[in-house]
Amino acid sequence: MTEHSDCIFCRIAGGEIPCDFLYADEQIVAFNDMHPQAPVHILIIPKKHIPSLAEMSEEDIALVGRINLVAAQLAEAVGIGKSGYRLISNCRADSGQEVPHLHYHLLGGRYLGAFTQQ
Ligand code: 5GP
Ligand code: ZN
Repeated sequence: MTEHSDCIFCRIAGGEIPCDFLYADEQIVAFNDMHPQAPVHILIIPKKHIPSLAEMSEEDIALVGRINLVAAQLAEAVGIGKSGYRLISNCRADSGQEVPHLHYHLLGGRYLGAFTQQ
């Protein structure tokens, strides 16, 4: 039982829900999004339950920095390092955030368009 047993991403990170991790370390796991919006759509999450970027604190700076590094390494590993990619974290209602556990979408494998057109 995780501390946040009602949180789907805590349960995935804690191994309660089986999931093929593309990356895992003591602090971070990454796995494919179940509803991919691009040929590559990976979710990168901290194991620590942080509801969104809005609840990030000073003590999380290294963790969030590491997520960015893991994103770049994963992008290389899955073959989109050269073609390019986007890293997004939705925060609260107007962003459409559905899962209230901090996560980053790594998207690529097709032209994603200018962000301002979305
Ligand atoms: P949000 O809108 O919160 O930024 O994005 C949540 C993402 O998590 C969505 O893209 C959704 O498809 C994905 N997702 C939600 N539940 C699960 C799950 O149980 N497994 C996987 N692999 N992805 C999930
Ligand atoms: Zn959680």
